[in-house]
Amino acid sequence: MRTWIAVILISIGLFAAAEASASPIAKDGTLDLRDVPLETSGPVALKGEWLFDWLAFRYPDQDPAPGQPMSIRTPATWGSQSSNIGDHGYGTYRLNLILSERDVGRALGLDLPSIASAFELYVNGVMRASTGMIGTSRSEMSPAAMPQPLYFHSDRQEVQLVLLVSNFVQRKGGVWAEIRLGTAEQIAQEREQRTLFQAFVTTGLLLMGLYHLGYFFVRPEPSTLYFGLSGLGLALRSLFVGDMLAVRLLPHFPWEIAVKIEYLSVFWGIAALLLYFHHLYEDYSHRKVAYGLALTMIAATLPILALPARAYTEWKLGYELLVLALALYIVYSLVHAAIRRKLGARLNLTVGLLFLATVLNDILYYNFLIDSGDLVTLGLLLFVFTQPFMVARKFAAAFREVERLKKAQEGMNERLEAIVEARTDELRKVNMQLKSSERSRSEWLSNVTHELGNPLTTIIGYLRRVKEGISGEAAERHIDIAYRKALSLNRLLNDLRQLSLPNSESYSIRREPVRIEQLCDTLGSSYDWKVPDRQVVLALLPGAAGRCVIDADLDRIGQVFANLVANALSHTSAGDRIEVVGRSFCSFGAYAVIVRDSGPGIRREERRRIFDRYYRVQGAASRHSSGTGLGLSISKSIIEAHGGRIGVLGEYGEGSAFYFLLPMKKVD
Ligand code: ADP
Repeated sequence: MRTWIAVILISIGLFAAAEASASPIAKDGTLDLRDVPLETSGPVALKGEWLFDWLAFRYPDQDPAPGQPMSIRTPATWGSQSSNIGDHGYGTYRLNLILSERDVGRALGLDLPSIASAFELYVNGVMRASTGMIGTSRSEMSPAAMPQPLYFHSDRQEVQLVLLVSNFVQRKGGVWAEIRLGTAEQIAQEREQRTLFQAFVTTGLLLMGLYHLGYFFVRPEPSTLYFGLSGLGLALRSLFVGDMLAVRLLPHFPWEIAVKIEYLSVFWGIAALLLYFHHLYEDYSHRKVAYGLALTMIAATLPILALPARAYTEWKLGYELLVLALALYIVYSLVHAAIRRKLGARLNLTVGLLFLATVLNDILYYNFLIDSGDLVTLGLLLFVFTQPFMVARKFAAAFREVERLKKAQEGMNERLEAIVEARTDELRKVNMQLKSSERSRSEWLSNVTHELGNPLTTIIGYLRRVKEGISGEAAERHIDIAYRKALSLNRLLNDLRQLSLPNSESYSIRREPVRIEQLCDTLGSSYDWKVPDRQVVLALLPGAAGRCVIDADLDRIGQVFANLVANALSHTSAGDRIEVVGRSFCSFGAYAVIVRDSGPGIRREERRRIFDRYYRVQGAASRHSSGTGLGLSISKSIIEAHGGRIGVLGEYGEGSAFYFLLPMKKVD
């Protein structure tokens, strides 16, 4: 879109130039404007062949020198025209104008550009304008550049223009820019428009330069710095070319310094522009080449600071070649970036190429190779004004990225919050588990203390009574009770010792072949059966004794047995029945022991869990509130270590029957 606007602007410029090219051309020192009334067809450029006396000041009343005058193309520097004319020297330009009848007596105007490097202009024999001081040697003359309008009127059709020019101070000499003629109004208006346009461009460049420099100080980024510097450079140049706004503001501005600024500002401005593009498209440019070119440009132009214009203006061609090298490198990196579709590179390339085309146009135009007109200001304007747009696009992209990251961050935060919440929940649960396990631990500890303390108190109580002197049957009963309590204490301590063993899950078992009779004897004696208030039936039957043996650790099996019987006793009350039956199933290879009681029994859902370590049936189902929850789990481990099985049968409310089976093998 913007590219098209550029194309349209350039085309308008070309049309304007084409219109100008239709204006008449001077021949042999005469410009015939009889058919060109200025009011309708003006203003016109006084270009074409003027008469010229080289190295001679011929005032209006003087005749040309012998062999002179010759024809000279205007506008053009005189040194570029013939090998007889050098850059430095002086001469006289003449042009006879033949006005249209309608322009006789009318207020007319001449638009005088800078004429290099000092001049006097005579109109119909009267000196009407001058700039600097002309002279026949460098010491005689003093240069100045001051574009100005000149208003006059003529009471006849013929107008004689005599222009005395001298130049000893720079390469460029003579009428190198267009002198324009029109009605006084046209000239005044044209100058005003031009001045305004140039002021507009200058201010634009200046503001852009300052804005980017300011931005650089807030957010240092090389591309902003270099764009700011190149903006300032080009603005400065714009003040010292064309209508010389700077000199119009400060009429006594030293000419030498003005030329230095004109040169340095553009060369350094372009070096900065190169670095700007380098940093804008860093991936598509070579740092060494970019900085090498920019520094070469700066180094090559440094002598300008110290030398007079007549020295360094001679090197203009060299400088122009350098500018060309820089411009080509810019185009190279832009093409490179545009191919890779880097942000804005294609637009930049298009505008850059258009700008180069206008530069090329002007070079050709001022060398009389084409007749199009001055377009470079338009190109510069277009080119430079697209850059803030590029920078803005870059920033906008950065902001978009920031927004995207912000959103992503927000999403991440939300996810993080969810994770934190889940983790906190888990922690809360673990904490609760810990608290509850801590509770059960202290509960368990108080149970163990109770289990240990209770029988101990009983034992102490009974033994004290015996010690105090009771005797006979009562003493025997007391000792008996104390003995049974001591046995149960011993069992409990066994359990606890088991628990404190490092690998307490698997019990160290010392197994040896045991005959069934021996097993029955051991089991029979592993509990004290004098339980007065229960009906205890003990039937440990060896079966076909002598034929089968069990690989067993008798102590351990005795421990299991005693534990089952003790449980049955503690879950029954006076008058309840406890049956202890042992049967040998030799043909099945198993010895079975069942301890059945008529106690409350165990709920179905509790049956599997009572064999877990520390598990104790809670509430009314359990008649005794204390206990360690260890007995059955230890029993299970012992039986399983023998390759046997342990379990519980019986309906809840009808008592329970704990059994264990031990593998047997036949012996002959
Ligand atoms: P404890 O030493 O606390 O009795 P056990 O592992 O020996 O621990 O028993 C686990 C649970 O099984 C006990 O809390 C008890 O309520 C239940 N239990 C054990 N034997 C019987 C039984 N014969 N009748 C009813 N409940 C029993």
